[in-house]
Amino acid sequence: MINPERLQRFFLDLVQIDSHSREEKDVADYLRAHLESLGAIVTMDDTAEIIGGNCGNILTRITGPLEDRVEPLLFCAHMDTVVPGKGVKPVIDGGVIRSSGETILGSDDKSGIAAILEMLYVLKEDSIPFGEIEILFTVAEEVGLYGARNFDTSVLKSKRGYFLDTEEVAQVGIAAPAAYRMTYKIFGKEAHAGLAPEKGISAIQVAAKAIQNMPLGRIDAETTANIGVIEGGSATNIITPVVTLRGEARSHSDEKLELQVEAMRQALKKATEEAIITVDGKKFQSKFEETSKREYKSFHISEDSATYKLVAKAGEALGLKMGREVSGGGSDANIFNEKGIESVIVGTGMTDVHTVKEHIKISDLEDCTKLILKMVELHR
Ligand SMILES: [Zn+2]
Repeated sequence: MINPERLQRFFLDLVQIDSHSREEKDVADYLRAHLESLGAIVTMDDTAEIIGGNCGNILTRITGPLEDRVEPLLFCAHMDTVVPGKGVKPVIDGGVIRSSGETILGSDDKSGIAAILEMLYVLKEDSIPFGEIEILFTVAEEVGLYGARNFDTSVLKSKRGYFLDTEEVAQVGIAAPAAYRMTYKIFGKEAHAGLAPEKGISAIQVAAKAIQNMPLGRIDAETTANIGVIEGGSATNIITPVVTLRGEARSHSDEKLELQVEAMRQALKKATEEAIITVDGKKFQSKFEETSKREYKSFHISEDSATYKLVAKAGEALGLKMGREVSGGGSDANIFNEKGIESVIVGTGMTDVHTVKEHIKISDLEDCTKLILKMVELHR
């Protein structure tokens, strides 16, 4: 049986410990103290040094009497929060916990951490027969999934993972898109805009043409793209020599994503190739440089997979009406699926995350904890 007061205490403690990305050490210390008091061995990897943070990913495992009989399961949550997340003052109001309105609440993802912690206490107290559970708390999820990326999954025994990191408890995140992030530098030719405009190529104009010809926005049911930043120019009397564009593309299909990135590239290629001038018998042509990086791969977990079925079965046993959800963004689960650990995302009740209106219903936090506990109980 879960202890609602203790669960709430964990949650309130955690949200009041500052942990912006790369500054998760105080949360890790809090967790380490609890995990060690439960008799668990806690290890921290060397991600902190790689990413310039003050804390690495922390891993622990607990074993039950069925250790040799059932496959181990991984539960995961991230320790970092987005900004503004310092000095959170949680307010409890009619069964809902919210922030004071000055900061986020940090239920993303401290609700997941609190639920896992409470589950571990209950497993110890209630002598529930279970196998082996691996618990991973990652860092720097919010700024680029850096904890998950740098975590060495070969130290895990689990082949299946549950990431407590989405909103509705009864909606299992079974799919998420792949994403690219791109930076394009467009080069024109500098000239005085009043004295000799014919001697210049405006990088702004080239960029405008390229953007005009790019497929952007909603491309199809699975694919989106955006140019979100445009920078360049310093004065109205100068024909701008350089413009930088930054954009992204996402798709649930890795193939469509590649096509989209290529289409954006072609728009730039065409616009730059068309911008040619001749000055004193010499030819000048606009050019561009592209730095594009695939951030993560997409994933899709089928309804028949044991990974999904375990959550669905546990939810139904608790009387929840379970559904499947497709996410619009990437999370640690993308990285773990890519690394071969089949993973789904479990909801905790966190709502309006990444805003100062973020809140969570206490009953949802309890349901999430009951759900993961039931999963462990039913996993035979
Ligand atoms: Zn999150």
